[in-house]
Order: sequence, then structure tokens, then C-alpha cells
Amino acid sequence: MFKDKTVLITGSTSGIGLAIAHLFAAQNANIILNGIESLIEINPILEVLSRKTQGQVIYESVNVSKPDEIEEMMARVCDKFGVVDVLINNACVQHVSPIESFSIEKWDLIISLGLSSAFHTIRLALPGMRSKGWGRIINIASVHGLVGSAEKSAYVAAKHGMVGLTKVVALETAQESITCNAICPGWVLTPLVQKQIDQRATAKGISAKEAEHDLLLEKQPSLSFAKPEDLAALALFLCKDDAAQMTGGAITMDGGWISR
Ligand code: NAD
Repeated sequence: MFKDKTVLITGSTSGIGLAIAHLFAAQNANIILNGIESLIEINPILEVLSRKTQGQVIYESVNVSKPDEIEEMMARVCDKFGVVDVLINNACVQHVSPIESFSIEKWDLIISLGLSSAFHTIRLALPGMRSKGWGRIINIASVHGLVGSAEKSAYVAAKHGMVGLTKVVALETAQESITCNAICPGWVLTPLVQKQIDQRATAKGISAKEAEHDLLLEKQPSLSFAKPEDLAALALFLCKDDAAQMTGGAITMDGGWISR
């Protein structure tokens, strides 16, 4: 059902976004990969994805914390493919610090990348979805869109905002065969989390393996990571007809994190 559909995934050169790109490529969709790396760095990934799909694969090296760069990207994509049928807002970074010493630059970056970018891609993709009478929007939020954690002020604020934005878009599109949902992962072992494991290992003088266990023990009762591929499978499900009546949701995959 995804052949001839165009899927744009922000922040998709790594981790969850890349796993989503692979799964949609296997469904023969057109894939628009996005990240801040150069085309040369990403070429090997593009080659693998191109072999998977009968559709086209393109790379947009665009900083989605910048609204004007998003506008240009969306214009190029709409020129080439007509519309974005599936929009996945995934790009974000993390910064951990007590609020009184939290860097203002990091705050601005996380809010623009993890929240405002979704506002811009959604407002620019919706007219095309409406003209086709079908669309799927998935915002990769986090358990931090539902609960807080100390020293993650910008991230928790951005992710709570993402869950709120999801609800509003769902209401505004409720009668149009367009759905908008947030996915809220707990710990998933990706470069974003590896960085936090390494920082914890250094701070506590323990091994990376011990830091990994420590991290899980603190928040995720299953004591296991979700895999990027598990999140991709959930995203694909949300784009199927079976999920047509799921909209405005904040769907967790968190090993029990928020059930505590
Ligand atoms: P990751 O670090 O593996 O990948 C991040 C991606 O974002 C990369 O492709 C990178 O190039 C891209 N990126 C970074 N800055 C960018 C910018 N300015 N413009 C465009 N792209 C940019 O991250 P991940 O762990 O796969 O996380 C993906 C999403 O899932 C994020 O929104 C994250 O908050 C969310 N999430 C992750 C976890 C987890 O445990 N890994 C948990 C909950 C939520």
C-alpha cells in the first residue's frame, strides 16, 4: 500500500529514524532521508535503501532547527513528489544539565529541533495531504512527553509540546482521512542514548555495561532496551488502514516506564 507514497523522516540518518526509513523502503515507498551530515557521508546508506525500494530515495541535508531551511526542503520535496503522504517528525538531540546552568543555546536548539520543526513540517505538508484526501503524521515524542526527569528541562518541555501539538493536529484533521499520533519510546539503544551511557560511566567510574544496567534500572522496569526496528514497526502500523481510527494518541513503547 506504500508504493507511490512519499515518506519524509526528519533526523533519519541514524537510530529510530533510519530504522523507519528501512522499513518503509521495504514497502517500496519513496524515501526522503534527512540529517545534517554531508551527502558523501550518507551515500552508503542511500545505496542500501535504494536497493530495498522500487521507489526513489533522496537525501535532504537540512538543519530542521531552522524554519527557512525547512521551507526550502518542503518546497523541493513537493516539487519532486507532489505531496508528502507520510510525515515523520523524528529529529531531536538531548542535553542534560540542572536548569540554572542549562545552556541557553541548547534550550533554543532543543525547542526548535524537537518541537518547532514539527510545527513547520506539518503546516507545510498538510495542504498536500488534504488535496489527496489521505495522510499520516507521526511525531516521535518520548515518555518525556508524558512524565518528567530531572536535568532534562528543554527535552521534557519540547516532548510535552510535541504531544500537545499532536492532539491539536488530530482534532483539525479528524474528518479527513489524515491521522496524527505521537510515539513515546522509553530507552532505545541508539547513539543518543549511548552518549548518556558513556557520560554516566565516566561520572560514576563504572564500565559501560554497568552504566547501561544502571540507566535501565532507574526508569525502565523491563530492564531491556526497545530496538529501533520495534519503533519502526509501530510507525508502519500507524500508517495502515487498520489504524485509521487511531488519531491524537500518545502511544508508549517503554518497557513499563510510565506505569511505575
Ligand atoms: P539519533 O541520535 O540516533 O539520531 C538523531 C538523528 O537526528 C540523526 O539522523 C541526526 O543526523 C539528526 N539530527 C540531529 N540534529 C539535526 C538537525 N539539526 N537537523 C536535522 N537532523 C538532525 O537519535 P534517536 O535515539 O534515534 O532519536 C530519534 C528520536 O527518538 C528523537 O526525537 C528522540 O528524542 C526520540 N527518542 C529516542 C529515545 C531513545 O532512547 N533513543 C527515547 C525516546 C525518544
